[in-house]
Amino acid sequence: MQEYKDRILEISKEIENEIIELSDSIYANPESGNQEFIASNLHVAILEKHGFEVEKPYLGLNTGFRAEYRSKKPGPRICYMAEYDALPEIGHGCGHNLLGATSTAAGIILSKFIGELGGRVIVLGTPAEETDGAKVHYVKKGAFDDIDLAMISHPTGGSYYYKSGSALAIDTLMFEFKGRAAHAAAEAEKGVNALDAVILTFNNINALRQQTRPDARIHGIISEGGVAPNIIPDHCVCKFYVRAGTKAYLHRLMKQVENCAKGAALATGCELKIGPFEIAYENLVTNEALSDVFERSLRELGETKIKEPGEDYGSLDSGNVSQVCPTIHPYFPVSTVNIPSHTAEFAECTRTPYAHEKMMQTACAMALSGVHIIREPGTFAAIRNEFNRSRK
Ligand SMILES: [Zn+2]
Ligand SMILES: [Zn+2]
Repeated sequence: MQEYKDRILEISKEIENEIIELSDSIYANPESGNQEFIASNLHVAILEKHGFEVEKPYLGLNTGFRAEYRSKKPGPRICYMAEYDALPEIGHGCGHNLLGATSTAAGIILSKFIGELGGRVIVLGTPAEETDGAKVHYVKKGAFDDIDLAMISHPTGGSYYYKSGSALAIDTLMFEFKGRAAHAAAEAEKGVNALDAVILTFNNINALRQQTRPDARIHGIISEGGVAPNIIPDHCVCKFYVRAGTKAYLHRLMKQVENCAKGAALATGCELKIGPFEIAYENLVTNEALSDVFERSLRELGETKIKEPGEDYGSLDSGNVSQVCPTIHPYFPVSTVNIPSHTAEFAECTRTPYAHEKMMQTACAMALSGVHIIREPGTFAAIRNEFNRSRK
């Protein structure tokens, strides 16, 4: 194994400069979800240079791509997922410039072994993680049907790696109440107050909270609340995100939240329209056998600062991938002090030598995981068996 590790480190040194340039160029040109033209083209150019066959646009997404490096020998089909969307105003505050470059680097490194070991490596460009998660669309279109396992590593503040854990399933609810306008003082009795229905919806949900499980998260805004204090509001809208640890519980919670709005409509006499306003993400299920290979690879590369997964109450579009294919979503450190993500400070960190060093180390660990999986049929079987068991 020593031989493979040393060769991986050697290849990593050879490609380091172009990978750092990839990440830094994407940092300097932040693009929002589905607008990542510069970023996706930079990824594709480098993958093509290293002999990958690229399909772009992919499944109807102009900034999505699928890059594949194939051997003539059979073997596992290993996928690294690359994100590259930025946040409005603060640019790469989630570090997707580094995240994507890590996956592309891992793909290139593993591709150098595919010819002798067998199998295939796929780098999947997955736009719009922060908004309209392309992975959800890819899953629906069957993009993972011919993929055996998927890996992605996300940057985080602090100097520790975190093993892949869980993330909540999320769905959205928009409530549109229609009432009747009237002079709010002179003829109030002729009105039907849609804002009261919105306020009651919030109060009903707050009453529901006492009976929800600890993993439940319900949070909303009033997006339309009337036009003037002297008019009884006749059209008001509120929007909620509903999150839970499992799909089954999310389903139950969604019904309960809907009932909160229906009760409010009945009490006020408003008409109610219910619908989603964004796409749903499923909960992330970590494949522990795959997670173990990644941890083993990191330790073989000399890394010791690895923690158990943190509590994660966010949601990821990788969750949808984990429902159809063995998946891991660990975190790698990009700063020696703890800096919160989705901030300008975090974006700044992604350009430091420390972040670059950890990006390359993570790419090596992802590639070494691939080598292990291809060379050890038992490890590959353990990953697939765990996934098949979890689906029953
Ligand atoms: Zn983010
Ligand atoms: Zn992110």
